[in-house]
Amino acid sequence: MFCGVTEGLPLESNGLRVLTRIGHGRAHLKSYSAVYRSVHEAIAPQLPKGAESLARAHLLLRTHGKTICRDTQPQCHECPVEDGCAFRQIS
Ligand code: SF4
Repeated sequence: MFCGVTEGLPLESNGLRVLTRIGHGRAHLKSYSAVYRSVHEAIAPQLPKGAESLARAHLLLRTHGKTICRDTQPQCHECPVEDGCAFRQIS
């Protein structure tokens, strides 16, 4: 991705969690790979173009998931997307 040879948006667990909580894809499927695929299908039309933008999106989602949208005790009161977050609406 950082060399510009990867297409699409690679997601690690933090970025994947952020996107499912916001409301992309389906978080409660049987396997991690099924959740991963569902998120990728959901975000495909909205992906930025170009390696630099994709790398920025990857790092932003990863950092957000590690610092604010943590696995346990997400800090929703500090989150800039709180108003539009599906997880926040039900928690
Ligand atoms: S509002 Fe909470 S659950 Fe939603 S993205 Fe922000 S930190 Fe995560």
